Amino acid sequence: MATNPLLLMRLMASAYAVAEKSGAIARRVMQSGDLGIVEKTGANDLQTAADRLVQKSICASLSRSFPKLTIIGEEDLPAETVEEDLIETTQAEEVLLKPCPPEYSSLKEEELVVWVDPLDGTKEYTEAASLLYSTHHRQKVHSGSELQLLATALRLLDHVTVLIGISYGGKAIAGVINQPFYNYQLGSGAVLGRTMWGVLGLGAFGFQLQEVPDNQRIVTTTRSHSNKLVTDCVQAMEPHKVIKVGGAGNKIVQLVEGNASAYVFASLGTKKWDTCAPEAILHAVGGKLTDMHGNAYCYDANVKHMNSAGVLATLRNHEYYLSRVPQSVQQALS
Ligand code: AMP
Ligand code: MG
Ligand code: MG
Repeated sequence: MATNPLLLMRLMASAYAVAEKSGAIARRVMQSGDLGIVEKTGANDLQTAADRLVQKSICASLSRSFPKLTIIGEEDLPAETVEEDLIETTQAEEVLLKPCPPEYSSLKEEELVVWVDPLDGTKEYTEAASLLYSTHHRQKVHSGSELQLLATALRLLDHVTVLIGISYGGKAIAGVINQPFYNYQLGSGAVLGRTMWGVLGLGAFGFQLQEVPDNQRIVTTTRSHSNKLVTDCVQAMEPHKVIKVGGAGNKIVQLVEGNASAYVFASLGTKKWDTCAPEAILHAVGGKLTDMHGNAYCYDANVKHMNSAGVLATLRNHEYYLSRVPQSVQQALS
């Protein structure tokens, strides 16, 4: 290990460690069956105990080790003392072992902004819980339809991620995605969860980069926040296949693992904490995330949180997808 890793790598090593702890919290709350659901702006905008506990854990842990950081979390929480057992002080060795890209070697804590989505895909997290607990309370899963419910619930768990993005000079430069329920298919005894991370100029780790074959257009989009503009825009891409899944983090995972070629969301709805970490990881492997006009989002501390002009993300061929965005979409989103 380098004797004194540079700030960005120390911060990423801490973010990695607290993202793993966050994954454990998300699993623990799911297992408790008591999600403590609160509606924020409506039934499609929810907060659970996992969102609250994870945000507390990430913000308190990072600000203890890096007191001058600006940290912006999704959830509006009362300022209160955070229980010591939520605080993570370790750093991931796997991150500390990597070199800091030279362009980021002299960053200062006060120049960095951390965007935290404690749980992305909360809607899917709550749906999975309600399906799981509706079958759980019966003695046995009897019918095929109940098995189907169970399978649906388990698949929804993969949509859930914890996102920690780091920006410098308005640009998303590094990010961590933890997927708390990864490997659920392996059944009891399996170690659940994985952490993916990336830094511009260094690369991305924790997964195997794969691409959809060039002649296949597979579009991924929202499953719970759709409207006519969203579906019109997806169709304008002339997709061979459409994959509707929850979570901005999860959709970027679909891109980098070769399950989808473009993430198309022609609507406001996602916020800076949804896109910062995923964008950094996507860009670290040569992909691109923009709004529907092809413009980059800015992640400075004082920007508005809403990504009002939609999300278009691709691993390759960004220009093609951008060229197919209908004028009606561009006019509607600014
Ligand atoms: P989705 O692709 O629908 O899972 O959305 C990705 C992220 O953006 C999630 O964190 C959602 O909560 C958020 N989001 C997207 N659309 C909306 C909306 N209309 N209202 C609230 N949150 C939204
Ligand atoms: Mg989110
Ligand atoms: Mg969230």
